[in-house]
Amino acid sequence: MKKNIFGLDLKALSEALQPYRLPSYRTKQIAEWMYQKGASGFSEMTNLPKKLREDLDEAFEIQRAKLVTQWDSNDGKTSKFLLEFSDGVAVETVLMRQPYGNSVCISTQAGCAMGCAFCASTVHGVARSLTRGEMLAEVLYIEEYLKKDEQKVDTMVLMGSGEPMMNYDEVMAFLHLLHEPYCKNFSYRNVALSTSGVVPGIYRLIEEDLPITLSISLHAPNDAVRDRIMPVNKKWKIAEVVEAGRQYGEKTKRRVTYEYILIADVNDGEEHARELSHLLHGQLANVNLIPINPVTERQLYRPSQERIQRFLDILTRQHISATIRREMGTDIQAACGQLRNQYMKNNEG
Ligand code: SAH
Repeated sequence: MKKNIFGLDLKALSEALQPYRLPSYRTKQIAEWMYQKGASGFSEMTNLPKKLREDLDEAFEIQRAKLVTQWDSNDGKTSKFLLEFSDGVAVETVLMRQPYGNSVCISTQAGCAMGCAFCASTVHGVARSLTRGEMLAEVLYIEEYLKKDEQKVDTMVLMGSGEPMMNYDEVMAFLHLLHEPYCKNFSYRNVALSTSGVVPGIYRLIEEDLPITLSISLHAPNDAVRDRIMPVNKKWKIAEVVEAGRQYGEKTKRRVTYEYILIADVNDGEEHARELSHLLHGQLANVNLIPINPVTERQLYRPSQERIQRFLDILTRQHISATIRREMGTDIQAACGQLRNQYMKNNEG
């Protein structure tokens, strides 16, 4: 079997290529072919000697992602891609054309084990975590898709399917690789990582000392409500999560985003808004209110427009910085996991 080299950093690549005794500039050329010029085979690497290309082709392969299906929203601003890896596992990657640039939403696992009541990604549990190379393949797929229009990926959110903190080492290796000059030279400042509140992961991320934006999926103002919709809260209580968020903001000087999905009659009351204000008082934080994308598998509904506005008004009056998320791609089921579930359903039986 051929060894996959897509996803290796320069050091690991030169170790893999050690038997060929290549000068270091050759290794770098190969990395640049894979990560910058989109080569998926050695025959494309025209500045390498022909014999070397043939030798490499016998021993190695470059595993990228294959498109299964693509959905485009009616307004053309959101495109969702179902991408498949070599073992047949598929994940969703979403491109959002925002006013400030092209944002890509990456999945970090196929499915998710966290069990949140409102989320489609977790309906079938987790199939497996993605490797660094697979996450990079998601980005490069979108990058090459945009190249046709002479555009590129400007920002990235780790907010697709999966819990990044449950795949911590691969996620970090992926971010480091993406940042390398022989790869995309992608700035950490343009990366946001979203977690359901895996507290030890947040502290590890603080230690990395990188200017990554942290998003915390809070979705409730107290343990009673959070316990009901997020099983992760049984392990790490809301006070611990918010304390970790506070420290993240303090250490990195970056504003932490608290995601709050508004669900009718679950967490959308005036008392919830006041409790949330109290909880986040004095933190370098921003609350992102997300009217729930109703998930057909669950009986959870979106509050009325007035109720959403009322919730926002209370936060604002309490001096909590808050916004209502601009809706993108509702018509193509762009909430994470929705597309994959449809695909799995269509392929059943
Ligand atoms: N596991 C990580 C990252 C993936 S989920 C985390 O929990 O943060 C990231 C985001 O997906 C959630 O915060 C929420 O913003 C969004 N999401 C999930 N289900 C949704 C739904 N039904 N409607 C709207 N947004 C949803």
